[in-house]
Amino acid sequence: MPNTYDVVAMGAGHNGLVAAAYLAKAGKKVLVLERKPWPGGGVVTREINTPGYWHDEHSSVHIMIQGNPMIRRDELGLQSRFGLKYQYNIPYAMIFPDQTTLVAHQDLDKTCEQIARISARDAETYRRFAKRAMAMLPMFASGLYVPPTSLGAMVSMLDSSEDGREVLDAMQRSSLEIANQSFESEKVKVWLVRLVTENLQMPDELGTGFGLYLMPGLMHGYGVSQPLGGSGKLSESLVRCIEHYGGEVRCNSEVTRILTSGGRATGVRLSSGEEFTAKDGVIGAIHPHRLRAFLDGVPEPVLVRAERASLAAFSIMVSHYDLKEPARFRAGEEVSHAIMLEFMASERLSDMLDDFDALRRGRITERVLGAGGDESINDPSRVPPGRGMFHGITFAPFNLEAGGSARWDEIREEMGDRSLKHYQKFVSNLTSDNIIQRTVVTPLDHARNMPNSMVGGDVHGVAPYFYQTAGHRPTPDLSQYTVPGVERFYLVGPFLHPGGGVYGAGRATAIRMFEHLGLDFDKVAGGDTGQGNSRTITLGGDATAGAASGVSAGTTAGASARAGGTAGAAAAGGASGRAHTVTLYGPANEDLMTIQTIGREGDDLIVKGQVYGTMPLTAKLRPEQARRMLRMLGFSLLPFLFTFLFRRSKATQGKS
Ligand SMILES: Cc1cc2nc3c(=O)[nH]c(=O)nc-3n(C[C@H](O)[C@H](O)[C@H](O)COP(=O)(O)OP(=O)(O)OC[C@H]3O[C@@H](n4cnc5c(N)ncnc54)[C@H](O)[C@@H]3O)c2cc1C
Repeated sequence: MPNTYDVVAMGAGHNGLVAAAYLAKAGKKVLVLERKPWPGGGVVTREINTPGYWHDEHSSVHIMIQGNPMIRRDELGLQSRFGLKYQYNIPYAMIFPDQTTLVAHQDLDKTCEQIARISARDAETYRRFAKRAMAMLPMFASGLYVPPTSLGAMVSMLDSSEDGREVLDAMQRSSLEIANQSFESEKVKVWLVRLVTENLQMPDELGTGFGLYLMPGLMHGYGVSQPLGGSGKLSESLVRCIEHYGGEVRCNSEVTRILTSGGRATGVRLSSGEEFTAKDGVIGAIHPHRLRAFLDGVPEPVLVRAERASLAAFSIMVSHYDLKEPARFRAGEEVSHAIMLEFMASERLSDMLDDFDALRRGRITERVLGAGGDESINDPSRVPPGRGMFHGITFAPFNLEAGGSARWDEIREEMGDRSLKHYQKFVSNLTSDNIIQRTVVTPLDHARNMPNSMVGGDVHGVAPYFYQTAGHRPTPDLSQYTVPGVERFYLVGPFLHPGGGVYGAGRATAIRMFEHLGLDFDKVAGGDTGQGNSRTITLGGDATAGAASGVSAGTTAGASARAGGTAGAAAAGGASGRAHTVTLYGPANEDLMTIQTIGREGDDLIVKGQVYGTMPLTAKLRPEQARRMLRMLGFSLLPFLFTFLFRRSKATQGKS
């Protein structure tokens, strides 16, 4: 039948494409339907003004995806086969009103040298802070690209160790409070707290302190990047991947209804009336506030809770400029290479807090909370030879106190001019003789452009608060990428775990679908790197083994990432020759778990060690679980086991 597929996805945003790509790679017949004339959603690079100038229409900085095994292990071949190339540069910099700068490098020492120019004490505090964040990175990363645990289980797990309790504490405080407690210099505090607000978080919002750990960890651990050619190159590589595996991506195809039968999703209907049948499942990029418009059969309380999901307190206004020559920064050349570059209207923390307060109340701030840069300086392919571009970002409320969101159409150019005046304080040639053309995109435009994912101009779907985290994002009902009442319907989007932004979170949706379809995710994901023989390692699989500490040491396909400069026992373990510990490695050869002792408690085996180099683990293996484990191994592995101790792994071959 011509319109019959195994899987049909509504929405070719990067997350929908990611989920579809894994399924296509698994051999499923996949169709992705996109309402716009181009795929990519919030991850597109287009000639917005004049031909030859390639602007990132929405996202430009790829931070969170750097820890995703999809990228780190090249699970889909995006880098090796489908044309995606990441370039890393100065991750973050700030220019103060007097044109002094504070620049973060991926290299921690270089960053601390910068901070020491302001405060030697803060430089050392930052070093400790960043090292701790990097050491915790594998722990964070292990849970980010897979379906989330319930919030209760996560809290319980974190509550079982000192490191975990530190994270839990940070998850409930504000980034402002943590910065105030740890640092002395106002400039350093402004620099750090403003970095966290990049995630559209209020500095003093309780529950946002975790960002102060995550951001330095990511910056120094994985680095911050942009794809060569622009953000949209990620989406383009995903489309190539899907097509390579026989899937289709069709644009100008707006889905108006998810079709269901007998409590199960069976396909979709387009605005044209055309229908497509999905035998195995339907994927939908549908915001919790919009579910009602697309799906029948969802229990009313589920919909009511979904519609209560809260949105971010502010949004962003973007200005895209085509320039005759590249932008010149008054503060010097170094900052022109920064991927995230803030233009501060004041170096006082209280001023910045006042400005965020104004946003919270729907007011346009007197002082512009601005950022931006010329992407063509790091990547000349973005503009015609010798030319430049400028990408200006200004934080702004969606619902204006005076006039509501509708007023944005009226004040668009006026607000663009206001922001331009601010940018000009930092960029000397952002002047009428150098500007060829500009387009200003308002928070209202985001909501119009992405009516089913950026509701209310929230570019991250829903707010990143603690109560909308992990198994509660966006609500407990919807957090597992499924919708109660409609089987075989799966969600993708920034409003789900792990959060808004370019995460490649569709991987977690794919994992959930693989599970329901009885497919082996590890096998499919591993195919491109030759590292595909990884197996899930679970101590006490059904969580009974971890009962003593509340920690299940189960790892999933999502375990990733070698933490740059990882501190702690695991990093010093196995590979570097510690004779008395055993290291279990993850799929990317990272140290997942170090076993320090194996002992006995009654009839149970007690395994003690550390997970991800930081989390202490005491796991109990009960006899019945051990018997299950033996059954899991199966007869086919027995001959291998006999010779196992005499083998050498690929990682050590040629080294000794
Ligand atoms: C101005 C701006 C700047 C940003 N900057 C960054 C940044 O620098 N770094 C970062 O990490 N994140 C950034 N973000 C956030 C990021 O763009 C989003 O979080 C991300 O794109 C979400 O991806 P997604 O695939 O889940 O959803 P989306 O990108 O929203 O994709 C959803 C897709 O579904 C399609 N669709 C919707 N309804 C239908 C329908 N009925 N039928 C068919 N198709 C439909 C949409 O057209 C869209 O293509 C920014 C966002 C904006 C707006």
